[in-house]
Amino acid sequence: MRYNTEELLKFPQELARFQSLVMVDAVTGCHVMANRKKRARFVLNEAERERTGLPKQIGARRLAYILEHGPIPESRRLYPLCGNRHCINPKHMWMRKS
Ligand SMILES: [Zn+2]
Repeated sequence: MRYNTEELLKFPQELARFQSLVMVDAVTGCHVMANRKKRARFVLNEAERERTGLPKQIGARRLAYILEHGPIPESRRLYPLCGNRHCINPKHMWMRKS
């Protein structure tokens, strides 16, 4: 099911936790989620899901991009140019039609 990533912007508490999980690689400048096993996903816990009504996982790459640049047009996808598939740094993203 599709959902709007921007929905998370309405919930400052969850948004702050997302931002606290983003680690910056001092060498490459890549931003990766603290738990890499979750790949580029922000995983909401049960309490957060209940509070927000959002799905369990939210795409971290899109979320990070929206926070930096604003809404992503429909049917656009983001690709990391740095070659790091875990990277969510908006400055390392290239956007194109899916
Ligand atoms: Zn990167």
